[in-house]
Amino acid sequence: MEKRKLVIIGSGPAGYTAAIYAARANLNPLLFEGFIDWGPWGGQLMTTTDVENYPGFKDGILGPTLMENFRAQAARFDTKILTEDVISVDFSKRPFTVVGGSTTVLADAVIISTGAKAKILPIDGGDKFWNKGISACAVCDGAIPMFRNKPLFVIGGGDSAVEEAIFLTKFGSRVYIVHRRDQFRASKIMAERAMKHPKIEILWNSVIDKVDGDELVRNVIIKNVLTGKTEEKEATGVFFAIGHQPNTGFLGGQLPLNEAGYLLVKPGTSYTSIPGVFAAGDVQDPIYRQAITAAGSGCMAALDAERWLSHEGSDQ
Ligand code: NAP
Repeated sequence: MEKRKLVIIGSGPAGYTAAIYAARANLNPLLFEGFIDWGPWGGQLMTTTDVENYPGFKDGILGPTLMENFRAQAARFDTKILTEDVISVDFSKRPFTVVGGSTTVLADAVIISTGAKAKILPIDGGDKFWNKGISACAVCDGAIPMFRNKPLFVIGGGDSAVEEAIFLTKFGSRVYIVHRRDQFRASKIMAERAMKHPKIEILWNSVIDKVDGDELVRNVIIKNVLTGKTEEKEATGVFFAIGHQPNTGFLGGQLPLNEAGYLLVKPGTSYTSIPGVFAAGDVQDPIYRQAITAAGSGCMAALDAERWLSHEGSDQ
């Protein structure tokens, strides 16, 4: 069986950045970029359009183009890339075993960067409008011209929903938070900020029953879950903010997660609880979840792995 000094599991900004740094440090990394289970290779940016907040691209760049560049840069430094999901791992003994869809390898060190999937809900009519008004990331998509001075809707009642709603007030004419209960899950301070904001209206005990439009979203049907009453409202944007699901199923419980399912790392580092196993990107980040922070943590993981391997004498 092939043995590698470093195997990176998962692509996206974190995995490819880890690969670029590790390859340039002569660690000869092998990267499983995923096939189906974790979403498309390249991660969540593959499903967005314009990315305007990734530094270095003053006119913005398309998410898929940005990830193709990341991938090509990783390949340029001789990262071996396999378009396979990892099915399981064995971290109980070293070298670790990483079992992919069709390839199994041994690894002295592993970086996990499988990302997270934004949770979304099936909404009547919704499929047609993905990226045409429906999004799962207000920070990524909110500034797109189509949302300017238009009514926008955020679904959820946690800190993300409130934060995204406040962010969207910079662009929308009015921002509605649609929450299924009559109380926020968000922290008190965030909840108060939303409730006091002159541009935000909270639709308590409500869900979006239907999305409608032509090429783009034009209106939504809001349903009060207590009374069953429905109301049509003009809408241009619908943003899911109901949490993320980190992609950790293949780990089979070998690493501790926080209560929301994110991998735990030693604060300020990429070290997990198993020496030689590192984590980077959204799979370990419940808070920032940005391409730039994922890339930064991928760099950290590669540097941590390099130092750890060097200390363990496995980098020769
Ligand atoms: P979250 O705290 O899990 O909140 C998810 C929200 O979505 C909840 O209000 C939940 O409703 C709602 N929801 C879930 N499933 C739903 C469904 N099927 N239909 C309708 N609504 C649904 O997730 P989050 O807001 O993304 O936050 C995740 C973590 O990151 C939290 O620890 C949060 O504090 C942290 N965070 C912090 C900040 C900050 O400090 N600035 C910003 C963002 C996130 P219920 O309330 O009824 O369950």
